Amino acid sequence: MESPRTPFNRPFIVGKELHYIAQAVQAGHLAGDGSFSDRCHRWMEERFGAQKVLLTHSCTGALELAALLSDVGPGDEVVMPSYTFVSTANAFALRGATVRFVDIRPDTLNLDENKLEEAIGERTRVIVPVHYAGVACEMDAILEIARSRNLMVVEDAAQGVNATYRGRYLGTLGQLGAYSFHETKNFISGEGGAIVINDEELVQRAEVLREKGTNRSAFLRGQVDKYTWIDVGSSYLPSELVAAFLYAQLENADTITEKRWQIYNRYAEALRPLEEEGRVQLPHVPEGCVHNAHMFYVVLPNAAERNDLITHLREHGILSLFHYVPLHTSPMGLRLGYAEGDLPVTEDLAARVVRLPCYFELETPEQDRVIDQVTAFVRGTSA
Ligand SMILES: *Cc1c(COP(=O)(O)O)cnc(C)c1O
Repeated sequence: MESPRTPFNRPFIVGKELHYIAQAVQAGHLAGDGSFSDRCHRWMEERFGAQKVLLTHSCTGALELAALLSDVGPGDEVVMPSYTFVSTANAFALRGATVRFVDIRPDTLNLDENKLEEAIGERTRVIVPVHYAGVACEMDAILEIARSRNLMVVEDAAQGVNATYRGRYLGTLGQLGAYSFHETKNFISGEGGAIVINDEELVQRAEVLREKGTNRSAFLRGQVDKYTWIDVGSSYLPSELVAAFLYAQLENADTITEKRWQIYNRYAEALRPLEEEGRVQLPHVPEGCVHNAHMFYVVLPNAAERNDLITHLREHGILSLFHYVPLHTSPMGLRLGYAEGDLPVTEDLAARVVRLPCYFELETPEQDRVIDQVTAFVRGTSA
């Protein structure tokens, strides 16, 4: 077998990343919340129209911070899709809250807003929509349900940075939002993330919990004359080295997005005939959503064909991936009392999805090889 030539993902540098890291070193401030963190915060607040954005060391960290801010504990319930990354659930499970999984829509693989109400009970406190592939959940319906039941909305916008829903940026629609800058996401800093705080009343506490439960942020602004332990908390700040790298990526957000769009559109145009022939399902972007080309996936007719396609691509030097093992059918999900069959749409789609290589430096000839191999396999014309 050939060794893979087209990886699934490749971390990249787009501009001044290394220059800014050198600047941070020269400035003599490598801990968190220096000038590069400030610049990242301001850039995101202005671009996304967010009340407050604070960098974290990961989206996992941002979700944990959100769970702390939501004040949930044992006996409380948090509703989310099972088709998501483990951190969405862990953040709340760590607080002792009960995670309630909702099925997804077959067209976007996002939380099915029509199945949300039946999952909400007396003890529900938080809804966590996950914007899969950077395509927004049906936020008007979700926010309306949350409003009528007085629930908090924490958006897992790990994949949705710079994407919009009816003109508003993902992460800014709920009380809290979480972004990821992991090297597999659109804008990267290796590991990295941010919490978006859209509720004025949560801003001050977010600063405190993020700074080990101290009022150090207020101290640095000269608002108090000493800093001390005033709440629970942990350390969620990234180093300035990370923020310096990230700022160079944010400055080039439009270049990065443009390139990803080209890749996405090339896949979509080339594979559209397969969808028209009823052989595969491609990503669907509902009206009112502008996605960020985070991901391109293909849904095969059944699990066996999906697995065979992954093998076929690997044999041709192309790495593709399936996505989440649904959390409710994972060993942890089973321990929480779930069973196979509980969420049929999630189980069906998760078994049939393949994610194709999609990264900033994917060159056209490389992408065309992927397209050719997918097409040959799906049409049954591959050797
Ligand atoms: C990547 C991802 C995360 C975790 O992000 P990290 O920055 O790696 O912690 C959480 N949720 C979703 C939906 C993700 O895709």
